[in-house]
Amino acid sequence: MTAHFSFDNSYARLDAPFHRPTLPTPVPAPRLVQLNRPLAEELGLDPDALDSQEGAEILSGNRIPRGAEPIAAAYAGHQFGNFVPQLGDGRAILLGEVVDRAGRRRDIQLKGSGPTPFSRGGDGRAALGPVLREYIVSEAMAALGIPTTRALAAVATGEPVYRETALPGAVLTRVAASHVRIGTFQFLAARGDDDAIGRLADHVIARHDPQAAEAPNPYRALLEGVARRQARLVARWMQVGFIHGVMNTDNMSISGETIDYGPCAFMDGYDPATVFSSIDRNGRYAYANQPGIAQWNLTRLAECLLSRLDPDESRAIEIAQDILAGFAEAFNAAYVQGFREKIGLHDEQDEDAALIQDLLGRMARETADFTLTFRGLGTAAETPEADASVRALFADPAAYDGWAVRWRARLAAESLAPAARKAAMDAVNPAVIPRNHRVEEALAAAIAGDTAPFERLNAALARPYEDRPDFASYAALPPEREAAYRTFCGT
Ligand code: AMP
Ligand code: MG
Repeated sequence: MTAHFSFDNSYARLDAPFHRPTLPTPVPAPRLVQLNRPLAEELGLDPDALDSQEGAEILSGNRIPRGAEPIAAAYAGHQFGNFVPQLGDGRAILLGEVVDRAGRRRDIQLKGSGPTPFSRGGDGRAALGPVLREYIVSEAMAALGIPTTRALAAVATGEPVYRETALPGAVLTRVAASHVRIGTFQFLAARGDDDAIGRLADHVIARHDPQAAEAPNPYRALLEGVARRQARLVARWMQVGFIHGVMNTDNMSISGETIDYGPCAFMDGYDPATVFSSIDRNGRYAYANQPGIAQWNLTRLAECLLSRLDPDESRAIEIAQDILAGFAEAFNAAYVQGFREKIGLHDEQDEDAALIQDLLGRMARETADFTLTFRGLGTAAETPEADASVRALFADPAAYDGWAVRWRARLAAESLAPAARKAAMDAVNPAVIPRNHRVEEALAAAIAGDTAPFERLNAALARPYEDRPDFASYAALPPEREAAYRTFCGT
């Protein structure tokens, strides 16, 4: 059986200064650590053919499948607010695009596949731990229903990579709606290549915003589309306690998918100031800052498209400001609506936002576990006796009681029946998230050669909205408060 990909490489075909043909560098002993069979099926690939030594050769970059046109993409980016005019795929290579079974175009990219023209002195490689971390967290996000790049496979290379110490090397096969980032536009803007911005924008419109092509000003509609997707995305992050950790403009996808899982993590106890990344010393990318940072990043994109918004510069600036204000509105609406659903409100009332803020304020003061509090509310909404397990999550349980009185009064005005309400709440309040201690445990075991905990964690995360007795321990509180949990970028 031969692994076959029906490639159709629209990005590689662009006449563009922003990608370069680049071949992966072969590795000595590729071995499949994990293959995402359901995703392979979705992509129209044969999982059995990939689940083989030939598959490992392809998914490590040792063998280039027919029809692939491997390229490394150039992009720029604001990293922690500082502009870097050239970053690019320093250790990733786009093999090509396939059109999946649902008719969606998907990039297939190898990450950790060796040096490229954009490696800037880096080795172009990735370590097994961070590869598996991206695998776990991106697949968890997909199961949560949050737009994200996906993980098709993780392959161990049989070769060490040298970070602080020697670590086992690996390659991740990442699947994305596209890899065009805000930084891709910034790369061209920094070079003053206005024609190329037009070609890139037209490519993105065709791919992600086809209806924008019909708009009076397609570029304006494109910017509106990107802003709308980001508003929804970041609201979804906030609603599951996700902290991306490195929201540089090169890590913000035009497609609206979560991309680049480096120092990301989910919080346990609710604290809006939470930062996990060891390199984010000033908390720029703290949980509560994420919407503001997304808007800042969109402003950078608007700057790249400014001359296309209107020939008159002051008018163009006005249009951009309107779109950015629209982002804030769309974010707030999605944020409030999402939390409204999380606390079981079906009908809309003006005071809902205040009720939500009251709960979040109390959770923050009492470091209540974010995931378990909301999951518990679903049960408490149906059976008030279940209050006991929710209030126990608050350092001072009385803080919950004060809010619960207000909440019940509000629920009394709802039209939805309690059983239907609980089902609706359970469908938006996950029982299982990738808890940091579980992720660390799975990665440590995998690095030591035992992938069983990794596979079990993936299985637990695959159906996050269900209470499954077999996986109850994955829904439990962490053993102790992980106040000092730190994540590292070193993917
Ligand atoms: P990230 O923080 O993962 O978004 O990466 C920022 C930039 O550093 C990107 O241009 C990456 O391609 C590049 N980079 C990260 N790690 C490596 C590596 N080991 N070798 C070469 N380039 C890298
Ligand atoms: Mg990146």
